[in-house]
Amino acid sequence: MRKLASIQRIKAIAPIEGADNIEVASVLGWKVVVRKGEFQVGQQAIYMEIDSIPPDTPVFSFLWKDVSPRPASYRIKTIKLRGQVSQGILFPLHILGPLDTWDGRDVTEHLGVTKYEAPLPQGSNDVCGPFFDGVPKTDEERVQSELGMSILEELQGQFVYVTVKCDGSSMTIAKTETIDHGQDIAELDGGPRFGYGGSVGVASRNWNLTETPSSAYWRAAHANNDALIDLIVDQPWLAVQGELVGPGIQGNRLGFTEHKCLVFDIYHRNEGRYLSIEEMEALAEIWGFSLVPLIDKGFELSYTAEDLLYMAEGKYDGTDNEREGIVIRSMDGKRLSIKAISNRFLLKGGE
Ligand code: AMP
Ligand code: MN
Repeated sequence: MRKLASIQRIKAIAPIEGADNIEVASVLGWKVVVRKGEFQVGQQAIYMEIDSIPPDTPVFSFLWKDVSPRPASYRIKTIKLRGQVSQGILFPLHILGPLDTWDGRDVTEHLGVTKYEAPLPQGSNDVCGPFFDGVPKTDEERVQSELGMSILEELQGQFVYVTVKCDGSSMTIAKTETIDHGQDIAELDGGPRFGYGGSVGVASRNWNLTETPSSAYWRAAHANNDALIDLIVDQPWLAVQGELVGPGIQGNRLGFTEHKCLVFDIYHRNEGRYLSIEEMEALAEIWGFSLVPLIDKGFELSYTAEDLLYMAEGKYDGTDNEREGIVIRSMDGKRLSIKAISNRFLLKGGE
Protein backbone atom coordinates (compact mmCIF):
# COMPACT_ATOMS: atom_id res chain seq x y z
CA MET A 1 0.00 0.00 0.00
CA ARG A 2 1.17 3.45 -0.93
CA LYS A 3 1.89 5.86 1.91
CA LEU A 4 -0.48 8.61 0.88
CA ALA A 5 -0.04 10.64 4.05
CA SER A 6 3.14 10.50 6.07
CA ILE A 7 5.26 12.53 8.42
CA GLN A 8 8.17 14.08 6.61
CA ARG A 9 10.84 16.63 7.32
CA ILE A 10 11.00 19.67 5.06
CA LYS A 11 14.31 19.57 3.22
CA ALA A 12 14.36 23.02 1.71
CA ILE A 13 12.24 26.10 1.14
CA ALA A 14 12.76 28.45 -1.77
CA PRO A 15 11.07 31.60 -3.02
CA ILE A 16 8.90 31.60 -6.12
CA GLU A 17 9.75 34.37 -8.53
CA GLY A 18 7.13 37.10 -8.53
CA ALA A 19 5.15 35.61 -5.64
CA ASP A 20 4.95 37.40 -2.28
CA ASN A 21 2.63 35.13 -0.35
CA ILE A 22 3.73 31.65 -1.33
CA GLU A 23 6.97 29.69 -1.48
CA VAL A 24 8.01 26.18 -2.47
CA ALA A 25 8.95 23.44 -0.01
CA SER A 26 10.89 20.25 -0.89
CA VAL A 27 9.66 17.03 0.70
CA LEU A 28 11.00 13.60 -0.34
CA GLY A 29 11.34 14.08 -4.12
CA TRP A 30 8.33 16.40 -4.35
CA LYS A 31 7.89 20.18 -4.63
CA VAL A 32 4.95 21.60 -2.70
CA VAL A 33 3.75 25.19 -2.73
CA VAL A 34 3.03 26.50 0.79
CA ARG A 35 1.99 29.79 2.37
CA LYS A 36 5.06 31.92 3.08
CA GLY A 37 6.38 31.44 6.60
CA GLU A 38 4.06 28.56 7.44
CA PHE A 39 6.84 25.97 7.51
CA GLN A 40 10.55 26.07 8.27
CA VAL A 41 13.40 23.99 6.88
CA GLY A 42 13.96 20.92 9.06
CA GLN A 43 10.45 21.05 10.49
CA GLN A 44 8.19 18.01 10.40
CA ALA A 45 4.86 18.17 8.61
CA ILE A 46 2.24 15.82 7.24
CA TYR A 47 2.79 15.36 3.55
CA MET A 48 -0.23 14.22 1.54
CA GLU A 49 0.62 12.90 -1.93
CA ILE A 50 -1.22 13.56 -5.17
CA ASP A 51 -4.17 11.17 -5.72
CA SER A 52 -4.98 11.31 -2.01
CA ILE A 53 -8.64 11.74 -1.11
CA PRO A 54 -8.88 13.39 2.32
CA PRO A 55 -11.92 12.48 4.40
CA ASP A 56 -14.89 14.83 4.56
CA THR A 57 -14.06 16.36 7.95
CA PRO A 58 -13.74 19.98 9.11
CA VAL A 59 -9.93 19.77 9.08
CA PHE A 60 -9.89 19.30 5.32
CA SER A 61 -13.07 20.98 4.14
CA PHE A 62 -11.22 24.21 3.29
CA LEU A 63 -9.81 22.28 0.33
CA TRP A 64 -13.14 22.15 -1.46
CA LYS A 65 -14.81 25.27 -0.04
CA ASP A 66 -14.46 27.01 -3.41
CA VAL A 67 -15.48 23.99 -5.45
CA SER A 68 -19.16 24.00 -6.28
CA PRO A 69 -20.98 21.71 -6.34
CA ARG A 70 -18.97 19.92 -3.71
CA PRO A 71 -17.31 16.93 -5.40
CA ALA A 72 -18.25 13.46 -4.13
CA SER A 73 -14.61 13.07 -3.25
CA TYR A 74 -11.86 15.63 -3.42
CA ARG A 75 -8.70 14.37 -5.10
CA ILE A 76 -5.38 16.13 -4.55
CA LYS A 77 -3.91 16.82 -7.97
CA THR A 78 -0.81 18.28 -9.56
CA ILE A 79 -1.25 22.04 -9.96
CA LYS A 80 0.84 24.97 -11.07
CA LEU A 81 0.92 28.18 -9.01
CA ARG A 82 2.81 31.21 -10.33
CA GLY A 83 4.65 28.93 -12.72
CA GLN A 84 5.68 26.53 -9.94
CA VAL A 85 4.53 22.89 -10.16
CA SER A 86 3.03 21.82 -6.84
CA GLN A 87 2.36 18.17 -6.01
CA GLY A 88 0.60 17.24 -2.81
CA ILE A 89 -0.22 19.28 0.29
CA LEU A 90 1.58 19.91 3.58
CA PHE A 91 -0.35 20.11 6.83
CA PRO A 92 0.87 21.04 10.30
CA LEU A 93 1.43 18.13 12.68
CA HIS A 94 -1.18 19.23 15.21
CA ILE A 95 -4.09 17.94 13.05
CA LEU A 96 -2.98 14.44 14.09
CA GLY A 97 -3.71 14.91 17.77
CA PRO A 98 -1.38 13.11 20.14
CA LEU A 99 0.60 10.56 18.15
CA ASP A 100 4.15 9.32 17.80
CA THR A 101 5.67 11.39 15.01
CA TRP A 102 8.83 9.77 13.76
CA ASP A 103 10.08 10.70 10.28
CA GLY A 104 8.44 8.65 7.56
CA ARG A 105 5.54 7.47 9.73
CA ASP A 106 2.54 6.45 7.65
CA VAL A 107 -0.57 8.30 8.85
CA THR A 108 -2.80 7.47 5.87
CA GLU A 109 -5.16 5.29 7.86
CA HIS A 110 -5.03 7.44 10.97
CA LEU A 111 -6.28 10.42 8.96
CA GLY A 112 -8.77 8.36 6.93
CA VAL A 113 -7.13 9.20 3.61
CA THR A 114 -8.00 6.98 0.64
CA LYS A 115 -6.55 6.74 -2.86
CA TYR A 116 -8.11 8.02 -6.05
CA GLU A 117 -8.42 5.24 -8.63
CA ALA A 118 -8.82 5.99 -12.33
CA PRO A 119 -12.04 4.53 -13.73
CA LEU A 120 -11.53 1.10 -15.28
CA PRO A 121 -12.44 0.37 -18.90
CA GLN A 122 -15.88 -0.95 -19.70
CA GLY A 123 -15.99 -4.70 -19.26
CA SER A 124 -13.62 -4.73 -16.29
CA ASN A 125 -16.52 -5.85 -14.15
CA ASP A 126 -17.25 -9.02 -16.19
CA VAL A 127 -15.30 -10.91 -13.56
CA CYS A 128 -15.08 -14.70 -13.76
CA GLY A 129 -12.45 -15.45 -11.16
CA PRO A 130 -9.52 -14.30 -9.07
CA PHE A 131 -6.20 -13.15 -10.49
CA PHE A 132 -3.65 -15.79 -11.59
CA ASP A 133 -1.92 -17.80 -8.90
CA GLY A 134 1.73 -16.99 -8.39
CA VAL A 135 1.84 -14.06 -10.80
CA PRO A 136 2.77 -10.67 -9.30
CA LYS A 137 0.37 -7.82 -9.98
CA THR A 138 1.77 -4.95 -11.99
CA ASP A 139 2.89 -1.75 -10.32
CA GLU A 140 5.62 0.87 -10.49
CA GLU A 141 7.09 3.26 -7.90
CA ARG A 142 7.33 6.96 -8.63
CA VAL A 143 10.76 8.60 -8.58
CA GLN A 144 9.56 11.17 -6.02
CA SER A 145 8.29 8.70 -3.41
CA GLU A 146 10.33 7.39 -0.50
CA LEU A 147 10.70 3.95 -2.07
CA GLY A 148 11.17 5.36 -5.59
CA MET A 149 13.99 7.60 -4.39
CA SER A 150 15.81 4.64 -2.89
CA ILE A 151 15.31 2.53 -6.03
CA LEU A 152 16.73 5.39 -8.12
CA GLU A 153 19.70 5.55 -5.76
CA GLU A 154 20.28 1.82 -6.25
CA LEU A 155 19.92 2.13 -10.03
CA GLN A 156 22.74 4.68 -10.30
CA GLY A 157 25.61 3.28 -12.35
CA GLN A 158 23.62 0.23 -13.41
CA PHE A 159 22.76 -0.66 -16.99
CA VAL A 160 19.16 0.30 -17.62
CA TYR A 161 16.55 0.59 -20.34
CA VAL A 162 13.79 3.15 -20.69
CA THR A 163 10.33 2.59 -22.15
CA VAL A 164 7.37 4.85 -22.82
CA LYS A 165 4.72 4.67 -20.14
CA CYS A 166 1.55 3.85 -22.03
CA ASP A 167 -1.62 5.27 -20.54
CA GLY A 168 -4.14 2.47 -20.66
CA SER A 169 -5.11 -0.27 -18.29
CA SER A 170 -3.03 -3.15 -16.96
CA MET A 171 -3.81 -6.64 -18.32
CA THR A 172 -2.34 -10.10 -17.82
CA ILE A 173 -2.64 -13.20 -20.01
CA ALA A 174 -1.82 -16.62 -18.56
CA LYS A 175 -3.10 -20.13 -17.92
CA THR A 176 -5.94 -20.16 -15.44
CA GLU A 177 -5.06 -23.32 -13.54
CA THR A 178 -2.05 -24.22 -11.50
CA ILE A 179 -1.40 -27.95 -11.12
CA ASP A 180 0.60 -28.89 -8.06
CA HIS A 181 2.68 -32.00 -8.86
CA GLY A 182 3.84 -32.07 -5.27
CA GLN A 183 7.31 -31.63 -3.92
CA ASP A 184 8.19 -35.38 -4.11
CA ILE A 185 7.31 -35.93 -7.74
CA ALA A 186 9.00 -32.69 -8.74
CA GLU A 187 12.18 -33.83 -7.01
CA LEU A 188 11.93 -37.32 -8.51
CA ASP A 189 11.83 -36.28 -12.15
CA GLY A 190 13.77 -33.09 -11.70
CA GLY A 191 10.94 -31.07 -13.18
CA PRO A 192 9.14 -28.04 -11.82
CA ARG A 193 6.68 -28.52 -9.00
CA PHE A 194 3.88 -26.69 -10.79
CA GLY A 195 2.27 -27.24 -14.15
CA TYR A 196 -0.27 -24.99 -15.79
CA GLY A 197 -3.61 -26.11 -17.16
CA GLY A 198 -7.10 -24.93 -17.84
CA SER A 199 -7.64 -22.41 -20.56
CA VAL A 200 -5.81 -19.20 -21.37
CA GLY A 201 -7.29 -16.44 -19.24
CA VAL A 202 -7.25 -12.68 -19.49
CA ALA A 203 -7.22 -10.54 -16.36
CA SER A 204 -7.51 -6.86 -15.56
CA ARG A 205 -5.14 -5.53 -12.91
CA ASN A 206 -6.95 -7.60 -10.27
CA TRP A 207 -9.47 -10.06 -11.75
CA ASN A 208 -9.90 -12.70 -14.41
CA LEU A 209 -12.42 -11.56 -17.00
CA THR A 210 -15.14 -13.38 -18.90
CA GLU A 211 -14.63 -13.51 -22.63
CA THR A 212 -17.29 -11.47 -24.39
CA PRO A 213 -17.26 -10.12 -27.95
CA SER A 214 -17.18 -6.55 -26.68
CA SER A 215 -14.42 -7.03 -24.09
CA ALA A 216 -11.54 -4.72 -24.97
CA TYR A 217 -9.21 -6.89 -22.88
CA TRP A 218 -10.08 -10.02 -24.85
CA ARG A 219 -9.88 -8.23 -28.19
CA ALA A 220 -6.38 -7.11 -27.25
CA ALA A 221 -5.50 -10.68 -26.29
CA HIS A 222 -6.67 -11.87 -29.72
CA ALA A 223 -4.83 -9.13 -31.64
CA ASN A 224 -2.02 -10.03 -34.08
CA ASN A 225 -3.63 -13.39 -34.90
CA ASP A 226 -3.70 -14.54 -31.30
CA ALA A 227 0.06 -14.05 -30.91
CA LEU A 228 -0.11 -13.70 -27.13
CA ILE A 229 -2.57 -16.54 -26.64
CA ASP A 230 -0.47 -18.85 -28.85
CA LEU A 231 2.61 -17.96 -26.81
CA ILE A 232 0.88 -19.03 -23.58
CA VAL A 233 -0.39 -22.25 -25.17
CA ASP A 234 3.16 -23.02 -26.30
CA GLN A 235 4.87 -21.96 -23.07
CA PRO A 236 2.17 -22.35 -20.42
CA TRP A 237 4.48 -21.34 -17.57
CA LEU A 238 4.64 -17.77 -18.86
CA ALA A 239 2.38 -14.88 -17.86
CA VAL A 240 2.32 -11.91 -20.22
CA GLN A 241 1.63 -8.49 -18.76
CA GLY A 242 0.94 -5.43 -20.82
CA GLU A 243 -1.00 -2.23 -21.14
CA LEU A 244 -4.40 -2.42 -22.78
CA VAL A 245 -4.70 0.56 -25.13
CA GLY A 246 -7.14 1.56 -27.83
CA PRO A 247 -10.54 3.16 -28.39
CA GLY A 248 -12.35 4.10 -25.18
CA ILE A 249 -9.42 3.26 -22.90
CA GLN A 250 -8.26 6.22 -20.77
CA GLY A 251 -8.97 8.62 -23.61
CA ASN A 252 -6.82 6.58 -26.03
CA ARG A 253 -3.99 9.10 -25.89
CA LEU A 254 -1.75 6.81 -27.96
CA GLY A 255 -4.29 7.03 -30.76
CA PHE A 256 -4.73 3.33 -31.58
CA THR A 257 -7.58 2.32 -33.85
CA GLU A 258 -7.88 -1.17 -32.36
CA HIS A 259 -7.38 -2.68 -28.94
CA LYS A 260 -3.85 -3.83 -28.27
CA CYS A 261 -1.83 -5.20 -25.41
CA LEU A 262 1.57 -3.48 -25.33
CA VAL A 263 3.72 -5.90 -23.38
CA PHE A 264 5.99 -4.61 -20.60
CA ASP A 265 6.53 -7.80 -18.57
CA ILE A 266 6.75 -11.52 -19.13
CA TYR A 267 6.87 -13.52 -15.94
CA HIS A 268 8.23 -17.07 -15.70
CA ARG A 269 5.94 -18.72 -13.15
CA ASN A 270 8.14 -21.77 -12.64
CA GLU A 271 11.38 -19.90 -12.21
CA GLY A 272 9.74 -17.07 -10.30
CA ARG A 273 11.44 -14.35 -12.34
CA TYR A 274 10.74 -11.78 -15.01
CA LEU A 275 12.28 -12.31 -18.43
CA SER A 276 14.98 -9.83 -19.38
CA ILE A 277 14.33 -7.19 -22.03
CA GLU A 278 16.39 -9.24 -24.49
CA GLU A 279 14.30 -12.35 -23.84
CA MET A 280 11.11 -10.34 -24.29
CA GLU A 281 12.35 -8.80 -27.53
CA ALA A 282 13.20 -12.25 -28.88
CA LEU A 283 9.70 -13.57 -28.08
CA ALA A 284 8.04 -10.47 -29.55
CA GLU A 285 9.99 -11.01 -32.77
CA ILE A 286 9.16 -14.72 -33.03
CA TRP A 287 5.48 -14.52 -32.06
CA GLY A 288 4.70 -11.16 -33.62
CA PHE A 289 3.40 -9.06 -30.75
CA SER A 290 4.36 -5.54 -29.63
CA LEU A 291 6.26 -4.38 -26.59
CA VAL A 292 5.84 -0.94 -25.06
CA PRO A 293 7.93 1.51 -27.15
CA LEU A 294 11.61 1.50 -26.23
CA ILE A 295 13.33 4.88 -25.78
CA ASP A 296 16.85 3.78 -24.90
CA LYS A 297 18.60 0.62 -23.78
CA GLY A 298 21.89 -0.44 -22.26
CA PHE A 299 23.33 2.76 -20.83
CA GLU A 300 24.66 3.35 -17.34
CA LEU A 301 22.20 5.43 -15.38
CA SER A 302 23.48 8.72 -13.99
CA TYR A 303 20.34 10.83 -13.87
CA THR A 304 18.68 12.61 -10.98
CA ALA A 305 14.94 12.40 -10.36
CA GLU A 306 14.68 15.87 -11.84
CA ASP A 307 16.45 14.73 -15.05
CA LEU A 308 14.08 11.79 -15.35
CA LEU A 309 11.02 13.98 -14.83
CA TYR A 310 12.27 16.18 -17.63
CA MET A 311 12.90 13.15 -19.88
CA ALA A 312 9.38 11.94 -19.06
CA GLU A 313 7.84 14.85 -20.94
CA GLY A 314 7.01 14.36 -24.58
CA LYS A 315 4.21 13.37 -26.91
CA TYR A 316 3.09 9.91 -27.90
CA ASP A 317 4.60 9.17 -31.31
CA GLY A 318 2.43 10.28 -34.19
CA THR A 319 0.01 12.16 -31.92
CA ASP A 320 -0.31 15.56 -30.35
CA ASN A 321 -1.04 14.03 -26.94
CA GLU A 322 1.22 14.43 -23.94
CA ARG A 323 2.63 11.08 -22.91
CA GLU A 324 2.17 9.80 -19.39
CA GLY A 325 5.87 9.39 -18.76
CA ILE A 326 8.64 6.83 -18.80
CA VAL A 327 9.63 3.66 -16.98
CA ILE A 328 13.29 3.01 -16.12
CA ARG A 329 14.48 -0.53 -15.39
CA SER A 330 17.72 -2.34 -14.74
CA MET A 331 18.86 -4.74 -17.47
CA ASP A 332 19.88 -7.47 -15.02
CA GLY A 333 17.36 -9.90 -13.63
CA LYS A 334 17.08 -8.00 -10.35
CA ARG A 335 14.52 -5.81 -11.96
CA LEU A 336 14.75 -2.54 -10.21
CA SER A 337 12.06 -0.40 -11.77
CA ILE A 338 10.67 3.12 -11.37
CA LYS A 339 8.33 5.43 -13.22
CA ALA A 340 8.70 9.12 -13.92
CA ILE A 341 5.32 10.69 -14.64
CA SER A 342 5.33 13.76 -16.87
CA ASN A 343 4.21 16.89 -15.07
CA ARG A 344 3.01 18.30 -18.38
CA PHE A 345 0.75 15.25 -18.67
CA LEU A 346 -0.55 15.63 -15.10
CA LEU A 347 -1.22 19.34 -15.53
CA LYS A 348 -3.22 18.62 -18.67
CA GLY A 349 -5.55 16.43 -16.65
CA GLY A 350 -3.87 13.08 -17.16
CA GLU A 351 -4.73 10.43 -14.62
P1 AMP B 1 0.27 3.46 -12.81
O1 AMP B 1 -0.37 3.49 -14.16
O2 AMP B 1 0.58 4.82 -12.32
O3 AMP B 1 -0.45 2.59 -11.82
O4 AMP B 1 1.72 2.81 -13.03
C1 AMP B 1 1.97 1.45 -13.10
C2 AMP B 1 1.37 0.82 -14.32
O5 AMP B 1 1.81 1.40 -15.53
C3 AMP B 1 1.73 -0.63 -14.52
O6 AMP B 1 0.98 -1.43 -13.67
C4 AMP B 1 1.38 -0.85 -15.98
O7 AMP B 1 0.03 -1.22 -16.08
C5 AMP B 1 1.49 0.53 -16.59
N1 AMP B 1 2.50 0.72 -17.66
C6 AMP B 1 2.29 1.44 -18.78
N2 AMP B 1 3.37 1.50 -19.55
C7 AMP B 1 4.33 0.80 -18.91
C8 AMP B 1 5.70 0.52 -19.19
N3 AMP B 1 6.31 1.00 -20.28
N4 AMP B 1 6.38 -0.22 -18.31
C9 AMP B 1 5.79 -0.69 -17.19
N5 AMP B 1 4.50 -0.46 -16.85
C10 AMP B 1 3.78 0.29 -17.70
MN1 MN C 1 -1.91 3.50 -15.41
